[in-house]
Amino acid sequence: MAIQFIAYGNLEALLERMRRSSEVHGPVCGDDGVVRFAALTPDKLPDLSAVRTLLPPKKYLLHPQETILKYSAGAGYQLPEEPCPPLVLFGLHPCDLAGINCLDRIFLSDVPDPLYAARRSALTLIGLSCTPDEFCSCHNCCSPLKALSDLFLVSLDNGFAVSSGSRRGVELLAAMMDLVEEQEIPVPEDTRSFFGQDVLKQAPPELDVDLPEWQEFADHCLGCGACSICCPTCSCFDVLEFGALDGNSAIRIRQWDNCLFKSHAQLAGGASFRKNRAERFRYRYLHKYRGFGPMSGIPTCVGCGRCRTACPAGLDLRPLAERLEGERL
Ligand code: SF4
Ligand code: SF4
Repeated sequence: MAIQFIAYGNLEALLERMRRSSEVHGPVCGDDGVVRFAALTPDKLPDLSAVRTLLPPKKYLLHPQETILKYSAGAGYQLPEEPCPPLVLFGLHPCDLAGINCLDRIFLSDVPDPLYAARRSALTLIGLSCTPDEFCSCHNCCSPLKALSDLFLVSLDNGFAVSSGSRRGVELLAAMMDLVEEQEIPVPEDTRSFFGQDVLKQAPPELDVDLPEWQEFADHCLGCGACSICCPTCSCFDVLEFGALDGNSAIRIRQWDNCLFKSHAQLAGGASFRKNRAERFRYRYLHKYRGFGPMSGIPTCVGCGRCRTACPAGLDLRPLAERLEGERL
């Protein structure tokens, strides 16, 4: 069967073509050896061998800290205006694409978040197949989240098999047909089917709050929150308001919050929904493997492995999940 093929030799031309109409970002290895999503310029090519970036692409959609509302005595309440020029994200692995699918469900459902919606509609997503390492769990995640992309590239020996997944992708591909050739080779395996999308058979039993594992993990957890910061589907935020000293203006900001932090469940007067680390650890587990809010009942771990590489205590939830989620994994 014929596939659409882009040779490695055409990669620079492909990126240059996309740069004519938008900024292009992808995984870039810095001088410190850390791979991050950053601008791909003519002298900065994507690191195609990187299994994961330090932070997931959520940083483009949900900024770590941002103003979401302004007030002034003259103008009243105003939503912040932000230019959202087109941005291509190149080289997104299936787990990160599924992570964006999760954020879409949260921020574009009943009442779309205006900042998220504007940024999302300016994004073109170009996926890239990858080979999981020992930290990944995408191949046995029970999340039904799909890896949605405008274009998806599957790495082959000398280039990529390319396919479109949206109208935007079809148009993008049509504009670069001179870089694409048809090849008669076996259709490569689609790594986007890693997710166990058919295994959510029934609601799992409730998890015991007194399970000894919560305390065992909590005894080792440092409460640093790194696992949540680097997670492509963690999207908790805090909302703070600051009034100016003249009393005539104020801003409301939101910033990433972290369920491993003591302050996450603290209320005025010092009360807390989750007083100890074991409760906080259980809460994170439930959110990753059982979902909540718009994702209720939908596991949101997409198996990127970032939490395991980031954890200074070397904690790994996979063995616990295998035991508690049983055949759903
Ligand atoms: S829980 Fe860990 S492995 Fe799962 S999506 Fe989040 S960071 Fe990735
Ligand atoms: S990264 Fe590890 S030590 Fe830090 S909060 Fe997460 S589980 Fe705890």
